[in-house]
Amino acid sequence: MDLPIPDIREDATANVACHPAKDKDLKWIALPLARVPNWQQKAIEKFAALLREYKSLQVYMDICARCGACAEKCQFYLGTGDPNNMPVARAELMRSVYRRYFTPEGRMFGAAVDAYDLDEAMLKKWYTYFYQCSECRRCSVFCPYGVDTAEITWAAREIMASIGVATKYVTEVIAKVYQIGNNLGIPPPAWLDNCQFLEEELKAETGKDIRVPVDVEGAEVLLVPPSADNFANTNTMMGYAKLFHALGVSWTTSTYANEAGNFGLFLNYPSMKKVNCRILEGARRLRVKRVIWGECGHAWRAALYTDTLNGPLDFLEVPHPTHICQYTLEMLRRGALKIDKSANDDVLVTYHDPCNPARAGQLLEEPREILRACCNKFVEMRGDTIRERTFCCGAGGGLLTDEIMPIRMSGGKPRAEACRATGATFMATICAICKAQLPELMKHWKVECAIGGVHELLGKSIVF
Ligand code: SF4
Ligand code: SF4
Repeated sequence: MDLPIPDIREDATANVACHPAKDKDLKWIALPLARVPNWQQKAIEKFAALLREYKSLQVYMDICARCGACAEKCQFYLGTGDPNNMPVARAELMRSVYRRYFTPEGRMFGAAVDAYDLDEAMLKKWYTYFYQCSECRRCSVFCPYGVDTAEITWAAREIMASIGVATKYVTEVIAKVYQIGNNLGIPPPAWLDNCQFLEEELKAETGKDIRVPVDVEGAEVLLVPPSADNFANTNTMMGYAKLFHALGVSWTTSTYANEAGNFGLFLNYPSMKKVNCRILEGARRLRVKRVIWGECGHAWRAALYTDTLNGPLDFLEVPHPTHICQYTLEMLRRGALKIDKSANDDVLVTYHDPCNPARAGQLLEEPREILRACCNKFVEMRGDTIRERTFCCGAGGGLLTDEIMPIRMSGGKPRAEACRATGATFMATICAICKAQLPELMKHWKVECAIGGVHELLGKSIVF
């Protein structure tokens, strides 16, 4: 990668931290409203429970050889030079506490063996640097021992949440899902209004009566998009509608389950489970045959855990999660869609692999094959910046919040530079967080490239 390895800048981002959670949000999520009085003891008890429950965490605590192979693979280190953003150093914040409380040598010799108390200063570092990690897993691709630092970040956040330490952004979003049903806090009447507005837009664009259905009982497909697709990435939403219309498939959205995004993944296991459960409940209420997840990265990662989180989908005719890209590709391969690729000739398209579909969701080929089927002009970014080596957009993992803008922009720089090198004028992606972050990133680094969804381009190319 062309991006130079930065000079080390000790504590460069030590003071760039997310705003802390508000009581009203913590209350909704049933977390302690303030730091619990005996927080150190409680945190270590939680740490012990996670070590018992997740054998992978125990292994990650023990096997790191400090070889440094991951050190320069994190976009947040490349962008900031802060050594605590090296994956090995980030994980060491947790390992040093692990040694202190869970190993004989750490209990006996303390700092002499790099074992440290979980005190106020350490907790501050955990809060700062585990919320400067986007849980992207890029570092894990390069670790010869398979250490997954994203899982270490998960565990650290889970421990912090258990003692009442979390960020405003993440808890606010989850609280909105609990209260209203989706990340944006869109009430059912507004969802319905917007679907009707999109139908008018579709009529104006195509001359066809293309539906964006809501709460249709007995539909074949329940589409669960990220709620942002209905309000911000509307071209993607209209692309889904064109797809189902062209196929003649009955489908619906749900005012109860209209959020694929799962911010529980960024906070703790119970929240992830509860947010995902809404989707299954929405499918049961509408008695659909299958559920299709829309273009959302972390939603798809959570979707693949559905069996573990919420039990089997055996009440559906198609008893497993389907991603919209898997579904669309199957239809293209069957020849069920008529496509005019020249409809996208006004753009040179590249594809940004969001971290979760690429490294945790087995979705590497599907979006590319769809893009090649609907665009004449497609170019890949450099091989070491795509597929499972993709760089994070800079805002995944609960980092899409303005108070840490310096982290977002510096962490996203490798993505922006790889895009610039292609000369692409349109970057397609399948993640609502990427779609929110990338336009700001491109503007910041002065890369002339529009951002949009794979189904936006597909929709443009469908011939009715
Ligand atoms: S998971 Fe991603 S953001 Fe976190 S340390 Fe690894 S490379 Fe960096
Ligand atoms: S590459 Fe793996 S073993 Fe090497 S320092 Fe990083 S986490 Fe540890």
